[in-house]
Amino acid sequence: YRRIVLAARPRGPVAAENFRLETVDVPELADGEVLIRNHYLSLDPYMRGRMSAAKSYATSQALDETMIGGTVGQVLASRNAYFKAGDAVGGMLGWAEMGVSDGVLLRKLDTTRIPLSAYLGVVGMPGMAAWYGFHQILEAGAGDTVVVSAASGAVGSVVGQLARLRGCHVVGIAGGPEKCEYVVKQLGFDACVDYKAGNLDAELAAATPDGVDAIFENVGGACLDAALARTNPFARVALCGLIAGFNGQEMPIKNSRLLLINRLMLRGFIVTEHMEFWQQGLQELAVLVANHQIKYRESVAEGLAAAPQAFMGLLQGQNFGKQLVKLF
Ligand code: NDP
Repeated sequence: YRRIVLAARPRGPVAAENFRLETVDVPELADGEVLIRNHYLSLDPYMRGRMSAAKSYATSQALDETMIGGTVGQVLASRNAYFKAGDAVGGMLGWAEMGVSDGVLLRKLDTTRIPLSAYLGVVGMPGMAAWYGFHQILEAGAGDTVVVSAASGAVGSVVGQLARLRGCHVVGIAGGPEKCEYVVKQLGFDACVDYKAGNLDAELAAATPDGVDAIFENVGGACLDAALARTNPFARVALCGLIAGFNGQEMPIKNSRLLLINRLMLRGFIVTEHMEFWQQGLQELAVLVANHQIKYRESVAEGLAAAPQAFMGLLQGQNFGKQLVKLF
């Protein structure tokens, strides 16, 4: 089967030379192991951090090893009593058409009401990041104004819809008129500001006449600054991602004075460190998705060889919704 390994660490923006496509043999299964054919691979911004050797919350990805990544697929063969051939499963088998799991990080998935691919997005890690940051950090209630950056994306789209369900006034920030229109018309945000239109501060101010009580930050830099400028006293910031700085760009905060003046609370979080909430969160998200109370959108690249290009596109905002690679 084919897999993609990390060939070299990026210097600056990720490039095709950082990856290598290889063909490897399907291994013999040992006792307890499961062979899986991956149907979808998830591409996520955190992979950019793993490609670099810089210190972070997680260790870097090793060179010449399969690129890390979440996958969903089907069991082909099993020597593990809990899994049988044909089971739909989710795991962390990486950028590969197949993989062997010892069963520890493998989860059986119910595809009767939720499509397989959604377990990598809205009912998976990105959905959980939205759920955790919104419910456990922002704790925004009816009438609060919530600002969400990367609003059309996998995480941001869920945050905004959870906030709408809570009765919040929700304002998104996204790149381009098409994404903004989707965020308002399809996802039901109250407003969405196109940060690429060149008037972020003024447009965000106009969209938040009562100020801002909660910020779900996915981007950093100018997006965070514009939202901070609108904060009310005791506003909360859930710092989920800083994609604006993924290539080492500096992201100075001009409005740091407001952290003090408005007695703000800013908390960064890594959703995989809060596994105790996953069962509850995923269950709630699954019900909302099955009942069509939360909508989602996917950008699907075809075939493993398309993964590097799709990943580079994700880091430049070329995805529109959750970025996946369809393998089978
Ligand atoms: P998305 O689906 O939101 O895709 C990334 C989006 O980021 C792009 O579509 C683009 O949207 C936006 N973007 C990229 N570069 C910039 C830039 N320079 N300025 C502004 N926006 C930019 O990805 P996810 O939903 O998977 O992830 C969103 C964020 O959440 C990321 O920062 C990620 O690292 C973080 N995250 C954190 C987790 C945690 O546990 N802390 C867990 C999961 C995700 P646009 O076209 O609108 O600019």
